[in-house]
Amino acid sequence: MALDHVETLECTLCGATYDPEQVVYTCPEHDGVAGILEVVYDYDVVQDRFDASLDGDIRSQWKYRAFLPVDTEATPVTLDEGGTDLLDVPRLGAEFDVDLRVKNDGLNPTGCFKDRATSVAATKARFAGRNVVTCASTGNAAASLAGYAARAGLDCRIFVPESAPEGKLVQPRVYGADVLAVAGSYDEAYDLSLDVTNAYGWYNRNAAINPFQIEGKRTVGHELADQTRDSIPDWVVFSMGDGCTIAGCWKGLREFAELGYVDDTPSMLGVQPEGASAIHDAFHGHDDVDDVADTLADAVAVGRPRNTLKACRALEESGGTALTVSDDDILAAETLLGRTEGIYAEPAGAAPIAGIRRAREAGIIDPDESVVAVVTGLGLKDTAGAKRAVGDVIRVQPSLEDVADQYGTANPDAESSI
Ligand SMILES: *Cc1c(COP(=O)(O)O)cnc(C)c1O
Ligand SMILES: [Zn+2]
Repeated sequence: MALDHVETLECTLCGATYDPEQVVYTCPEHDGVAGILEVVYDYDVVQDRFDASLDGDIRSQWKYRAFLPVDTEATPVTLDEGGTDLLDVPRLGAEFDVDLRVKNDGLNPTGCFKDRATSVAATKARFAGRNVVTCASTGNAAASLAGYAARAGLDCRIFVPESAPEGKLVQPRVYGADVLAVAGSYDEAYDLSLDVTNAYGWYNRNAAINPFQIEGKRTVGHELADQTRDSIPDWVVFSMGDGCTIAGCWKGLREFAELGYVDDTPSMLGVQPEGASAIHDAFHGHDDVDDVADTLADAVAVGRPRNTLKACRALEESGGTALTVSDDDILAAETLLGRTEGIYAEPAGAAPIAGIRRAREAGIIDPDESVVAVVTGLGLKDTAGAKRAVGDVIRVQPSLEDVADQYGTANPDAESSI
């Protein structure tokens, strides 16, 4: 057994260190779960094991296994997460006058980039002999955990706000999980899941408190570094809820630059809805923060983000910034992305596109700069939200006349044949 590439778990607040073989969620020196831990690696050991150079396809995130905090003896619990395409999207880019690419992470196995982290969590939980996994979630992390628990043969009990979109409440039940729909917000579901973790000793996947979770999210950064070696973007754009994702990606990008696999790092642009803007507010030093989330982008409807500190560090270290967009902007971005490039994102997945528009207007992103937007979730989980933007279908009788009402009378000489 070897977890010898993980040196220590270090508290982001006080610098205290902990043994990575123990299950420690947060530093006990601070109130609640404030003392979030950072996984520190011995990169000599990591690099010895990372025999693959960056050459070759990215079949899944396990290409970067040497960088993941799992025991060398552990068999991954995997559904082939990661390895998502980086698409050129010239038609969408022309809307903003930037050189735009989209990393389509909604194509992960459960429809969300969170599978990257869940795969690591399920691998660690199974290897440690744990039988029950849990988390609180706005919906996607729960669905993801349920899928990977099924894959690993573990019991899964998850806490979601009862207001989560129907698709996200059904999906985990198909995977056989118990879904406890909490009469309250995500923040209340989160607190309940922590109480439950303490009381029952189940393995908790929550990305902010489980220090290993964010490590799986790093692989989106590893892949981006790998895929953009010859064309490093000026900006990488994410939506932010708890802030773990943007922080994880930044850690991946930064470590690949520090290890010399790539020459440079992009700046991170973090996007939040106006109704759930706590990280944005903290980054810009506003202190009259409203901790009640109100946005249709349910995946980032977080009032009290758990990972503000790591997210703000990512923005700052990368020379990036944070901005907010309205729900109307997000819906418009969702349909624009679909209409111009055939990519169907959920609202939180489309928010980066709305953010690019704002950033261009505000002079944050200059014309012709290169930008990668990471689309984090698939739209099919929440069709009710998108329906607000696209309206109803065109209703017709099964007759040509009704079609003619729409498109005019058919011309029999037109390019024909069935
Ligand atoms: C969870 C989630 C996010 C935000 O990730 P955080 O780590 O909470 O900042 C963004 N988009 C989608 C689709 C998500 O599910
Ligand atoms: Zn501490």
